[in-house]
Amino acid sequence: MKILVLNCGSSSLKYQLIDMDNEAVLAKGLCERIGIADSVLTHQVPGMDKYIVEQDMPSHDVAVKLVMDALIDPEHGVISDVSEISAVGHRVLHGGSTYSDSIIVDEDVKKVIEECFDLGPLHNPANLMGIVACESAMPGTPNVAVFDTAFGQGMDEKAYLYAIPYEYYEKYKIRRYGFHGTSHKFVSKETIRFAGLPEGERRVIVCHLGNGASVSASIDGKCVDTSMGLTPLEGLIMGTRSGDIDPAVVQYIANHEEKTVDEVLNILNKKSGMLGLSGVSSDFRDVEQAEKEGNHRAAVANEAFRHRVIKYIGAYAAAMNGVDAIAFTAGLGENSAMMREKICESLTFMGVKIDPERNNVRGKECLISTDDSKVRVYLIPTNEELAIARETLELVQK
Ligand code: ADP
Repeated sequence: MKILVLNCGSSSLKYQLIDMDNEAVLAKGLCERIGIADSVLTHQVPGMDKYIVEQDMPSHDVAVKLVMDALIDPEHGVISDVSEISAVGHRVLHGGSTYSDSIIVDEDVKKVIEECFDLGPLHNPANLMGIVACESAMPGTPNVAVFDTAFGQGMDEKAYLYAIPYEYYEKYKIRRYGFHGTSHKFVSKETIRFAGLPEGERRVIVCHLGNGASVSASIDGKCVDTSMGLTPLEGLIMGTRSGDIDPAVVQYIANHEEKTVDEVLNILNKKSGMLGLSGVSSDFRDVEQAEKEGNHRAAVANEAFRHRVIKYIGAYAAAMNGVDAIAFTAGLGENSAMMREKICESLTFMGVKIDPERNNVRGKECLISTDDSKVRVYLIPTNEELAIARETLELVQK
């Protein structure tokens, strides 16, 4: 069975066609500058040269049709007809409090995605456009919505409620939702499977450390807490996001710089984090390099990033009354042995011991702690596309 995975952004569309018989990626690609001039589709079949289509894409509708054309192209395609696609799995940012799991799309689901436009203004409209485009390009083929907020729905009230007047939760559903849910769910499950954690010993902390970064605590794969909140701004220091901050800072900057709240929020989302602190870059590689060259602000940014991750791990271990496994994932988590080692150096109080040789790896599932480490530590690569495809398969096979 072949499943198409779509991740639509406001002006982009990423896709992968996956053969679920062996979970192999048959083709993948990216449409860029949708709705803007000079749109381009880059299509790639493993082992073959990239196929680039420069064609106007005024809408997601057109982009989806071009993806279909590329997939059935006699030279660059991998299927002979779109009817070979059994289902489409869509990454959808926000499902509000309605969906705690993936779901086959019908009119009600589309309505909820639309009701959440306010909560995910950049992504939800694009996600819905992708779904509607697939409905018209492949009538009758099921579409599945896989929500980035679904995993966070596992949290109890004590973890998801903000201590603000309760009426705001009742009126506007202001609460913590958590994001990167598809990744946290996938990695926590993979950690349990790979580590062979027995029942009763499945308290897992996942550190998803990429340009966007978050930590989650889960027991038996059910979310106990996660660091992102109403929006992805809360929690860890990220590439350009501040993460946790005293809300009074917003007022202070707004007053002193004569900016609106929206403008300050834009600064906290796009100009803060590693970029704002280091003044070098939002890319962790650049900041690590700058530190090596003696840049003090870069060194402080790296230290502050690690300090926040360490605090969250400590807090989540306490929230679960212990932790059985810690997993590192995403761009930085999978690639920076130094970052993993330095974070774990501060966790010796809970019996974490890293094996430097085991830790000297990139991007593959492995144990990186010593055999006598009290808490086992793993590198578990995330794969959001495969996670979406698996969830889609499960639903359409029911
Ligand atoms: P996102 O999906 O949120 O855009 P990724 O998970 O792709 O982010 O992670 C991107 C980040 O990972 C970048 O900041 C990049 O610098 C970092 N990264 C990738 N490889 C390395 C490495 N070898 N050392 C340090 N950081 C790395």
